[in-house]
Amino acid sequence: MTAAHDTTIVAIVGAGPLARAMLETLMGVASVEIRCVFSADPDAPALALARENGIRCHIDGRIDGHVEDGVDGRVNGRVVSRFDVLAADAEVNLILETTGEPDVLTAVEAAASPNSLVLDAAATRGVLRLLSGQRESLERDITRRENAEKARYLRQASHQIKSPLSSIQSSVNVILGGYTGEIPERTREVMEKIHARCDAALSGLAKRRLLADLRCVDHDGLEMDSVRLATMVREAVDLHAALASQRGVEIQVAPHDVPDLARWPDLVRCDHQKMVALLSELVENAVVYSEEHGVVEVSVDARPDGRLMVAVRDHGIGIPERCLPRIFDEDYRADPAVQHYLDGVGLGLTIAREIADLHGFDLTAQSEEGRGSVFTLSVPAAPAVP
Ligand code: ADP
Repeated sequence: MTAAHDTTIVAIVGAGPLARAMLETLMGVASVEIRCVFSADPDAPALALARENGIRCHIDGRIDGHVEDGVDGRVNGRVVSRFDVLAADAEVNLILETTGEPDVLTAVEAAASPNSLVLDAAATRGVLRLLSGQRESLERDITRRENAEKARYLRQASHQIKSPLSSIQSSVNVILGGYTGEIPERTREVMEKIHARCDAALSGLAKRRLLADLRCVDHDGLEMDSVRLATMVREAVDLHAALASQRGVEIQVAPHDVPDLARWPDLVRCDHQKMVALLSELVENAVVYSEEHGVVEVSVDARPDGRLMVAVRDHGIGIPERCLPRIFDEDYRADPAVQHYLDGVGLGLTIAREIADLHGFDLTAQSEEGRGSVFTLSVPAAPAVP
């Protein structure tokens, strides 16, 4: 077999876990051809993978069971090593010794052709780390590019849908405002429903766009600032004041229980706008999944380890235990929620978790069906600026 000029031809000595990891990594590299694998153990983990991919396996001096001429024996009175086959293959230009055994390394170095570079197990491990890191960053780049493309498409599509929906809403407002004349009660009810459905569709679109945009950024894309948690909690609560009063729910913001305000004045390093979006999703859910006359409690506490905890608690419909593990999944809605609140879209908690993950914050949920839920966000407090 002749290889292209710029192809690296590799032989792997050993077939243990390091060899297997190396095989998996190198098989994804276009400019690498893995010529052969050497193993003393016929059951070693890398051998099956090598065979599946048509790579020649030298097992204890045999090629897949056939004794090789002149290998591991005496030829014309000279002791030859099972690695002498390497000397005959001048095309191999990289030999990766993965067993870590000094004797094996010495034998490989003695047998290798002058064209081959031999790397010992430590160097091979280093190369593997380097390649894996490069692959991960490449995969991250590809995912980010795909997400950016999705977000761009979604922006266009949502723009096209948003305009007609908004104009339907304006027309409905004109009718509801009585500008086209008196309207019968039944017509008013239908018009109000149309208005509410348009609202829900617009909010669903906005959430889908926000989620798509979030998936295009990483931690470095956050606009970090030191912001008071109390300020962000207040902003999130204010966003839903109208919704709460419309649904007959009271939102209580508990007084701060931050004992050492001088040292930990509830400052958080975060992207202000995104944190408000996260908290807003939790408050919105607590409101919509409460029963009428329900109370939602929002509190901020400081823990002795320097973490601040925001808890959003409601006494509403709760979440069945079997549904709890899935509530952060995209588009997931638990059955009781679908019956209780028609206009949900199953994206709020996905957005909240995405924002928490981007910052490295912990977001957890506890709930009891029929009794209510509490969502807790744990964030490290930023030390006070002197
Ligand atoms: P949406 O509320 O639009 O359905 P979310 O992603 O915000 O979507 O929430 C996902 C699901 O988690 C909801 O459909 C509901 O089943 C459940 N859930 C979230 N918050 C609460 C809550 N406070 N009380 C009861 N169920 C909740």
